[in-house]
Amino acid sequence: MKFFLIALSLISWINSAQAKELIYSLSPVKVAQNVYAFIGSTDYFNRENGGNIVNTGFIIGTDGVIVIDSGPSLRYGLQMRKAIRTITPKPVTSVIITHHHPDHFLGNTAFPDSEIYALPETIEAIKVEGDGLLENMFHMVGDWMIDTELKLPTKAISSSKMVMSGRSLRFLPLNGHTQGDLAIMDEQTGVLFAGDLAFYNRTATTPHAHLHNWYDSLDILMNSGFKTVVPGHGPIDQDGASLEQTLRYLKWLEATLKQAAKDGLEMTEVLRLKTPEEFKSLDLHRDEFYRSVSHLWPDIVNETLPLIAQDLD
Ligand SMILES: [Zn+2]
Repeated sequence: MKFFLIALSLISWINSAQAKELIYSLSPVKVAQNVYAFIGSTDYFNRENGGNIVNTGFIIGTDGVIVIDSGPSLRYGLQMRKAIRTITPKPVTSVIITHHHPDHFLGNTAFPDSEIYALPETIEAIKVEGDGLLENMFHMVGDWMIDTELKLPTKAISSSKMVMSGRSLRFLPLNGHTQGDLAIMDEQTGVLFAGDLAFYNRTATTPHAHLHNWYDSLDILMNSGFKTVVPGHGPIDQDGASLEQTLRYLKWLEATLKQAAKDGLEMTEVLRLKTPEEFKSLDLHRDEFYRSVSHLWPDIVNETLPLIAQDLD
């Protein structure tokens, strides 16, 4: 009995210490030789996950480590550094940011000694929207964000290939999920970090989306010669299933909204449209559908209604 009580108090002590320290429990998943990912939850931001809804990663080079996306907070970035040290003692020399959404870059301040690379469009978007995105994250996940500040990337990516710490990387400067979406291919292993151009078994988000550009970007990724895809959200795949699923979902979304506009539906009626069987298993399919309707509906109506007017002429 005494042992049981000691064990119980130990467990509650650990739980309260974890709550106080706000631990993300980041554990590196080996993707290929010297390539790792941290796989986040497929939820939306909340005070339990602290914003860890994102996949990040790292590649170990000859003299340093290249981090792909720094995560949602300073705390995440620091805990990521610690987790990397369980695999290699090499320093993080470079951080590459895939795009300007808050779960992907707000850990930048955890890497004061590293160059932080991003597309020029991403740097611009952080300059314009960064303060608002940061403030919003404080509202959504609270204490996990303590001491997190905005830190702009230090270098704009202007070439399509670069050797970093002895690793040959191919940069694919794309867009469609946002105005600047960088996909990164590790040439040695064929691992493609697709950023949020790919969501897998988790519904895609569209607050800055340009759907047709996104389709074109996915087509480029499908033909990039990858061996493994690390999507921005959801599990890793070897056959491009994440890219194909994202494309099918977005095309359904666009076709559904266009049809609804042609049928003269009100936005409240659009929100009640059913999810097809294929996408019902995607995490957050209803929540993200509601959000996407609010993001995309005004433009879809504007694009679709003139076509109807032309048809009537
Ligand atoms: Zn994103």
